[in-house]
Amino acid sequence: MSHSTAPVIFDIAIVGGGLVGASLALALAGTGLSLVVLEAQAPESESQPSFDDRTTALGNGSRRVFEALGIWSKLAEEAAPIRRIHVSDAGRFGFARVEAQQLQLDALGYVVSNRVLGRELWSALRATPAVTLRMPAQVRQVQLAAAGATLEVQDADGVSMLQARLVVAADGAQSLVRRVAGIGAQRNDYAQTAIVTTLRTDQPLDGTAHERFTTQGPMALLPLRSTRQGNWHGLVWAAAPDEAIKLLALDDAQFMQQWQQAFGWRAGAALQLGRRASYPLSLQQADATVATRAVLLGNASQALHPVAGQGFNLGLRDAAELAEVLAEAVADGLDPGSAQVLARFEAQRGADRQGVVRFTDALVRVFSDTRPGVAALRDLGLLAFDLLPAAKQALSRVSLGFGTQTPRLTRGQALR
Ligand SMILES: Cc1cc2nc3c(=O)[nH]c(=O)nc-3n(C[C@H](O)[C@H](O)[C@H](O)COP(=O)(O)OP(=O)(O)OC[C@H]3O[C@@H](n4cnc5c(N)ncnc54)[C@H](O)[C@@H]3O)c2cc1C
Repeated sequence: MSHSTAPVIFDIAIVGGGLVGASLALALAGTGLSLVVLEAQAPESESQPSFDDRTTALGNGSRRVFEALGIWSKLAEEAAPIRRIHVSDAGRFGFARVEAQQLQLDALGYVVSNRVLGRELWSALRATPAVTLRMPAQVRQVQLAAAGATLEVQDADGVSMLQARLVVAADGAQSLVRRVAGIGAQRNDYAQTAIVTTLRTDQPLDGTAHERFTTQGPMALLPLRSTRQGNWHGLVWAAAPDEAIKLLALDDAQFMQQWQQAFGWRAGAALQLGRRASYPLSLQQADATVATRAVLLGNASQALHPVAGQGFNLGLRDAAELAEVLAEAVADGLDPGSAQVLARFEAQRGADRQGVVRFTDALVRVFSDTRPGVAALRDLGLLAFDLLPAAKQALSRVSLGFGTQTPRLTRGQALR
């Protein structure tokens, strides 16, 4: 059943109001473009795939974007600053530390729960009349043509049509928009599953984020905001799929025992465990990121291994750059969905996207290589890194992106 006959026309239709789509909508709110966000799952719903039980490590560039979007002060109340990163290789002598203070930074990044990100992004969107929100509303079909795009949307009232000058695919790794645009994607399975949970230990939090590489896969232990409920960490433990099945089947006490064995005692003794969830890990990269009247952002364009906490930070830079290019198009009187505008966006984003994908992929491969020579070289590499301030400076730049020019919002500047 249809509840409207004449299609409604927008400048921009954002398909997917998860981490990246919701951030883009907020960034575009002041540009004068007419916007609609179409999101299949309510942000507070248990089945929301973006705002789930995970925690996200945000770099300083992402903090500046959220400052510009006006939601950082709310996020900061529940964010845990990362004051240092400790990297170690299980069973080997190599380790490295990066201290925020040595780099003249207040923090290397901030850990925020995805639920808090979803709550603050959507509460800001709901208070922004310039953005039309359709949620829960599933985009079922999209037609892309030179004159504009037509979208078929299903919600509680039935099926309706809308038109847009530009469709933004922020609909995740299984992107419908990518498929209808005829863009293929290369998928490389890492044969690893990430187990994500929270863990309470008996040691006070000191702002240390631990990255520990094991032969099975990397493990990250991130500080969470201290509460009266004690010292909680976010844990991401990547393991071979059959090993992950076994770990998921253990009771909490057995799981904590296994964790303690794999991680050691540098964060104290495990006392309590949160709910466990699992994510199969692969690298997926779209063959192109723009098409007629369509552009791919975030996981729809590239979905990464979480080892270096780069996926959302990269997707947020995609959103910041697109907002900047579209604001320029408005000022120049250009059609926001034109090939000329999309080509400008694609050219600006290429280097950063490729750089982060290669960096993350290399990290996973080098650290899961068990050949003795490679492991010894890794030890040397980690030790050299520990002693070399320049290498640490380079790492701190990763949080700003690999491109020659980063988007204005990540530099703390207004869109124009
Ligand atoms: C274990 C793990 C840990 C991670 N940790 C970090 C980290 O610390 N730091 C970091 O930067 N990144 C991290 N990431 C990566 C990060 O989660 C992703 O980069 C991010 O979720 C991408 O957001 P997105 O909005 O592009 O896609 P998604 O999160 O997949 O959101 C897509 C949205 O689109 C909606 N949608 C889909 N199809 C439709 C449709 N047809 N109609 C309407 N709506 C639709 C979905 O409901 C969803 O809300 C991690 C990833 C994993 C797996």
